[in-house]
Amino acid sequence: MSRPPVRLYNTFTRSKQELRPINDGVVRIYSCGPTVYRYVHVGNLRTFMVPDLLCRSLTYLGYQTHQVMNITDVGHLTDDTFDRGEDKMLVSARLENKSTDEIAAYYTDAFMTDIRKVNIRPAVEYPRATQYIPQMIELIEKLIVQGHAYEIGGTVYYDIASFPAYGRLSRNTTDKLLTGVRGDPDPRKKHPGDFTLWKAAGEHRQQVWPSPWGEGFPGWHIECSAMSLSLLGDHFDVHTGGADNVFPHHEAEMAQSEAVTGHRVVGLWMHGGLLSSRGDRARRRVGVTVPSRDRQRHRHAGGDGPRRGPHALIAAGAREGHTPQAVGRSPRPRPRSRDAGGAAARRRRGAPRGATGSTGREGLREVGPAA
Ligand SMILES: [Zn+2]
Repeated sequence: MSRPPVRLYNTFTRSKQELRPINDGVVRIYSCGPTVYRYVHVGNLRTFMVPDLLCRSLTYLGYQTHQVMNITDVGHLTDDTFDRGEDKMLVSARLENKSTDEIAAYYTDAFMTDIRKVNIRPAVEYPRATQYIPQMIELIEKLIVQGHAYEIGGTVYYDIASFPAYGRLSRNTTDKLLTGVRGDPDPRKKHPGDFTLWKAAGEHRQQVWPSPWGEGFPGWHIECSAMSLSLLGDHFDVHTGGADNVFPHHEAEMAQSEAVTGHRVVGLWMHGGLLSSRGDRARRRVGVTVPSRDRQRHRHAGGDGPRRGPHALIAAGAREGHTPQAVGRSPRPRPRSRDAGGAAARRRRGAPRGATGSTGREGLREVGPAA
């Protein structure tokens, strides 16, 4: 079957590039999904609409798609760039007086509900990071053996100096990074920019696993290497995420996956830009408030497909705001007053791909503080 060629903007090359699926006619996509410690906001939803729009377009053009989106339920620290601060899951668990399992179950359920409301078709699979701890440990062991990682006191760091291509995706340099540092990075690191693969448990009272380096938990970046390599193999077509994932998350993922495999893993990197509201660019990390009239409009999105409703969010500059910030700082999540009780009972599975999902009677959830 002949299909029209598709050209996509590749963050890696900073140019449009023809999509050439590794398996003829089947495009395999890995999408960075939510960290399930709070409700997603409209900026997050826009990021998740990008791969949905891609899948819908490819399907229309005669391609098959196989999209995997991860659920991060451990290891995402409040300071991504320098691997400092607390695990976001743990912060929410403490603020809401819940276990991390309860927090993960509740906000995963809320995420699935929200994407149905805005008519995002579900991915084929939603792997959870906590299900892939053995694969992460295996990857870290390989990185240590290969000289790309080192352990200090039960914490394992990636040695960025061992991977000369580090910075290639984001076009960041370690010098730029250091200009934004507030406070001192872990002085035990070989380089301040070395990032955490495995973190010693320390005061971390929940979500701790045994490992060759003692009890601890994985870093955020190794999660996506483990899940993408496990589920899509060592070479797949498209990796999606938000523009704020380019650095450090995707830069680190690329360094990990390519060091282990010895070759390029991702064919094309596709990132959704930052969302603007009322003409002002609204950084996702400082939150985006949707005016009530816009929410009203979104209520009618269900079943309208990609050309109406919230998919209009994509219309504004899909790759605007591409330049990754050298240092991103996250505000601490605030306590929530919503009752999270009975979450597991209300948990619902995502509808199969192709289902319209939304009833069309529900609006977007009120936007909260961003992560
Ligand atoms: Zn990811």
